Amino acid sequence: MKDMNKGIVYLIGAGPGDPGLITIRGRDLITRADVVVYDYLANPKFLKYAREGAEIIYVGKMGGCHTKTQDEINEIIVDRCRSGKIIARLKGGDPYIFGRGGEEAEELVKAGLRFEVVPGVTAASAATAYSGIPLTHRDHTASVAFITGHEDPTKDESNINWEKLATGVGTLVFYMGIKNLPNIVENLINNGRNPDTPCAVIHRGSTPDQRTVTGPLSQIAKIASEAGIKPPALTVVGDVVGLKSTLDWFETKPLFGRKIVVTRAREQASGFADILAESGADVIEFPTIEIAPPKSWESLDKALDQLESYDWIVFTSVNGVGHFVKRLFDRDMDIRDLKGLKTLCIGPATADAVRALGVRVDFVPKEYRAESIIEGMGEENIRGKNILIPRAKVAREVLPDEMRRLGAQVTIAECYETVLPESNKDQVRALFEEKKIDAITFTSSSTVENFMSMWGNEEGLKLLDGVCVASIGPITSDTARKLGLKPDIEPEKFTTAALADALKAHFTKS
Ligand code: SAH
Repeated sequence: MKDMNKGIVYLIGAGPGDPGLITIRGRDLITRADVVVYDYLANPKFLKYAREGAEIIYVGKMGGCHTKTQDEINEIIVDRCRSGKIIARLKGGDPYIFGRGGEEAEELVKAGLRFEVVPGVTAASAATAYSGIPLTHRDHTASVAFITGHEDPTKDESNINWEKLATGVGTLVFYMGIKNLPNIVENLINNGRNPDTPCAVIHRGSTPDQRTVTGPLSQIAKIASEAGIKPPALTVVGDVVGLKSTLDWFETKPLFGRKIVVTRAREQASGFADILAESGADVIEFPTIEIAPPKSWESLDKALDQLESYDWIVFTSVNGVGHFVKRLFDRDMDIRDLKGLKTLCIGPATADAVRALGVRVDFVPKEYRAESIIEGMGEENIRGKNILIPRAKVAREVLPDEMRRLGAQVTIAECYETVLPESNKDQVRALFEEKKIDAITFTSSSTVENFMSMWGNEEGLKLLDGVCVASIGPITSDTARKLGLKPDIEPEKFTTAALADALKAHFTKS
């Protein structure tokens, strides 16, 4: 009977917050699902794995304000499953550790429906690991218990055997126990736990918002409350907490907890965003540019028709390379048609993109400045030569103008254009207004120009007041200065890796 319906519910542990901590099976099942049901502890970043057209249902649950009751959630899941759907039910951490996964599974069994469970990394193991606290350690403890702190410990019939727990287990981890912390502490001490036992309270472990406070058991409730620690947070009690100062690797990262806005186009942003995130930053992607096909292919097509007449082809961006090659292919041509042309790439990332095509790069200037490019190429390579620059139409014509002045024939062939994207403007404005942003990065003149024109210059300047402005190089910095900004950071090398390093250096010293 069960097998007649292909509907199935996967109860998936989505991990504690760091999106890298979902299992491979969990991620694969999200990709296969017809319906994705998630709550507030499951990182919404996972929704990008859902297939197009999948139904996405948020069922909330945050402290007291429940968006949907457990009954309603069960009903949604049972209904969808009955109609033959594949459902990915994402739950924070592990579904069977204080996640009511057991209850949902029982409902499915009752309804005669199929389900499977995908375990997840539970908050206790992630938050402690990311706080520098091993849950067990041969020198300190041989046992660990996960306990709900939600239960009112003063009520007569507790499910928790405080007497045994207080002294019988080495490491204690309390989930959902922030409000009850004073009671938990009292119960432990009254039942014989040493009041000096080291404790930690960890808020949003494994995320850029992670915060940890530590102190002896007798003081920890006061310390957490004075520090304003809010749920979701867990409390760790045990000698292993003493290892934090030695084993901390996450909260000590150079950009830990820094909110950094990345303004480059979404297509290009991920590499840079990844480097920043690896260094602990909370990266806010706010693309101020979107790459679109040009309104007309005319100039590029004309150039492609007479490729053999050019001496040099100059690539100014990774986008330029990608769109140029795409058009080449669309017109039934390929890399072989570039035979005989010398290639110049403005920066190392662009050069890598060209090399990835199996094409040798003849020249990469040391600096992205017209004079240095011309000096590096040598005047004899420019005078009387035919030079093709496939790129976006932009206002700045310094390089072509200089080349023309030296007697070259320069063709600018438009292969893409940059437009203002749809964006998460309101959300980002709020972060700026609340002074939550530490730095903004500009990786080209257009990112600065577009950022400022999105708000209007005056408001843009106001939003950036007090924010560290990081510019990738002198041209971007000049544009920023013209618009009234003062770049605080400019790396010596014109690369996003160097920009990330400069940000690290900046925030480590300040
Ligand atoms: N099933 C989840 C727990 C759900 S109960 C799991 O296995 O992790 C919700 C409680 O988990 C919160 O009140 C908090 O105590 C804890 N919690 C969840 N995510 C957390 C995180 N990132 N950092 C600290 N505690 C967390």
